[in-house]
Amino acid sequence: MSFTLAIVGRPNVGKSTLFNRLVGRRLALVDDQPGVTRDLREGEARLGDIEFTVIDTAGLEDANDDSLPGRMRRLTERAVEMADVCLFVVDARTGITATDEVFADILRRSSAQVLLAANKAEGRAAEAGIAEAWGLGLGEPLPLSAEHGEGMTDLYSALLPISEAFAERAQLDPVLMPDVSLPVSEEADEAGPVPTAQKPLQVAVVGRPNAGKSTLINRLLGEDRLLTGPEAGITRDAISVPFDWEGTPVRVFDTAGMRKKAKVQEKLEKLSVADGLRAVKFAEVVIVLLDAAIPFEQQDLRIADLAEREGRAVVVAVNKWDLEEDKGAKLAALREAFDRLLPQLRGAPLVTVSAKTGRGLDRLHAAVMKAHAVWNRRVPTAQLNRWLEGMVAAHPPPAPNGRRIKLRYMTQAKTRPPHFVVMCSQPDKMQDAYTRYLVNGLRADFDMPGTPIRLVMRGQA
Ligand code: GDP
Ligand code: GDP
Repeated sequence: MSFTLAIVGRPNVGKSTLFNRLVGRRLALVDDQPGVTRDLREGEARLGDIEFTVIDTAGLEDANDDSLPGRMRRLTERAVEMADVCLFVVDARTGITATDEVFADILRRSSAQVLLAANKAEGRAAEAGIAEAWGLGLGEPLPLSAEHGEGMTDLYSALLPISEAFAERAQLDPVLMPDVSLPVSEEADEAGPVPTAQKPLQVAVVGRPNAGKSTLINRLLGEDRLLTGPEAGITRDAISVPFDWEGTPVRVFDTAGMRKKAKVQEKLEKLSVADGLRAVKFAEVVIVLLDAAIPFEQQDLRIADLAEREGRAVVVAVNKWDLEEDKGAKLAALREAFDRLLPQLRGAPLVTVSAKTGRGLDRLHAAVMKAHAVWNRRVPTAQLNRWLEGMVAAHPPPAPNGRRIKLRYMTQAKTRPPHFVVMCSQPDKMQDAYTRYLVNGLRADFDMPGTPIRLVMRGQA
């Protein structure tokens, strides 16, 4: 089972050329298959040892009618929905156009994983366009030349982790595999945009044995009567379980269930090492569940740190709060220990709960939603640059060897978690302390507690 990549972008950027290069002769025309729109071409692609399905949205320029923008948007939305990952292609020679911005907007709002390619990147004429592409807020642009076959190694490197994650996920949980052959009828085209399906929020509950993970998950599932009724057939063998959490579709990664299954299979030791890691890789939001009696054990710290390094939104939940007597003093001690032991997660929500009685679970829900929103937060470039000016004025960057580092421009390159890029002189001379000053400032000034924030310094050509 391979993943599906959709090539999207405005006409003439080189989508077909790239499609043909990736697919070679392995083209399967989908026109004759019932229910598949004629506008999308599909083929089996190979890049090195990675095999995947590629969908091409090209061919739009033939439609010389007034409905072009609408059709383009609908087609792109449809491709995005069918794909596991989108490759958004822009033309590095032309630079970023208003139409590119429209596409970027669609992609930023979708939950699909997006890679950005700056095509026609051969030669110097493309340099300005590549720099401009950073500003789209979709991550680092991959310079490509579809026509000359340049940049394919970088594309391979970008696709490799996706391919690996997909293979691992498929192995872990067949239920997670998306229905790639989503039938799309021609009528949908007339009826307006196909609504983008809301993907469930992926949550993992991690923590040391006995913290109360099973109790918590059972409690959450128990509140969802529809799915846990006698005929619903939810089995706790599943590694990820879908349910409705106060109106939010959620999939919870069930490490506790895994352990129970593992016991049967006598693979406990092997699984318990890997399960926390897998859960973190699966999740968008990781709930680190602590036992109030023994909080912040080594194992808890390791998993919280792992979640931060993997770029996940983190919520810390302190369980068995029903057993605590002096709750006020305990909470103050917990917050102090948190800031001291997990400075990298400064400001992450700390919620006290009782999985047993159900107290605090509404606040846990709110904290998970907030963490997810912050993780997805996008700060407009203009606002960031005003902010950067203020930060520099308040505290100028270091001047190694007597030459002050100039911070020229800042943009948010990605969300989930937020990634920022600062274009500057002498990026290699920048000191960590100054980067931390900026990161902590971003957290405070743009209200981004708890989410990992990435900030890189880059030199400009
Ligand atoms: P699509 O409409 O996005 O599918 O774009 P096409 O693949 O039809 O390409 C549009 C034009 O750009 C064609 O003339 C291609 O030959 C040209 N083109 C595609 N890739 C490259 C490239 O890497 N470099 C240059 N210079 N031109 C390219
Ligand atoms: P897991 O290993 O993390 O899945 O932990 P379990 O859910 O199996 O819970 C371990 C023990 O803690 C069980 O005896 C639970 O009844 C108990 N427990 C779990 N949550 C709470 C809670 O909120 N309050 C109290 N008092 N006990 C709890």
